[in-house]
Amino acid sequence: MTLRLQDVTKKFGSFTAVNQLSLEIPERQIFGFLGANGAGKTTTFRMILGLIDQTRGDISWNNGNIGYGESHLIGYLPEERGLYPKMKVKDQLVYLAKLRGMKKAEALKELEQWLERFKVPEYKNKKVEELSKGNQQKIQFISAVLHKPKLLILDEPFSGLDPVNVEMLKEAVVDLKEAGTSIVFSSHRMEHVEELCESLCILHHGSPVVHGKLKEIKKSFGKKNIRIHADFDLSFLKDASGVMKYKPLSNGCELQIEREEIAQSIFEKLQGKGFVRTFDLEEPTLNDIFIEKVGAAYE
Ligand code: ATP
Repeated sequence: MTLRLQDVTKKFGSFTAVNQLSLEIPERQIFGFLGANGAGKTTTFRMILGLIDQTRGDISWNNGNIGYGESHLIGYLPEERGLYPKMKVKDQLVYLAKLRGMKKAEALKELEQWLERFKVPEYKNKKVEELSKGNQQKIQFISAVLHKPKLLILDEPFSGLDPVNVEMLKEAVVDLKEAGTSIVFSSHRMEHVEELCESLCILHHGSPVVHGKLKEIKKSFGKKNIRIHADFDLSFLKDASGVMKYKPLSNGCELQIEREEIAQSIFEKLQGKGFVRTFDLEEPTLNDIFIEKVGAAYE
């Protein structure tokens, strides 16, 4: 069950929101979708779901169409959360699950398991409006996964959640992947994408600027980071050749270097200057890559 986007473009009037996007999202993978505000992530999700039509290009799933006819196989957590505030959690989730072809008894069983898992069994008979925003989000997540979709699209699933709930949802996402669901999620948090995704795409003004496997993206970026802790002033490294960025840390500094070999000459420059506590050569972070490709400071 591969989701494939080929040369997909979406225009709103003369404005191009998504520009010639080609992607492939294989089965049993978590695919990360990154981009600054307004980059075109939500628009892409809406096209995949058939909520809006693309202006050009093809979207296929397992070589067939994808749209309303497949909705029982798809789960979606939209960016604008929306549950019926006056309805009980149980009634609402069972109703939505039935729309996706589930039997009531089965939906209830699944629902109880999810509420247990998220440590909120007592919410079953509460009205949605009685829950906090973060807890409403957990309920909406359950509504996206209750019918065991094959393809799960999550628009900023972790935003607004406390750290305990973020971990709980992350674990659920990983388990769903292992059970065979293909998952696409957007996020502004690089560390979540680094932790969860094998592959990713960074959109910039509607165009893909980075796309591929996380490991290969890091490798081809070339630049590395060095983190040094020492008992003497390291600011002289700022001007060393091959040093692209210098960031002071307490008791040390972090450097971005042009390529791995520069680490050797930096190491030599430290000799005889004093006591060096740590010298770590590290892979670039996704944040480094994002900032370079998109050129924007990012939370
Ligand atoms: P965010 O991170 O802020 O959620 P995003 O990457 O999801 O952003 P989109 O919501 O896809 O961004 O929007 C992409 C661009 O398309 C934006 O400039 C937005 O204003 C524009 N856009 C989206 N929907 C419409 C619409 N229905 N009519 C006109 N322009 C639209």
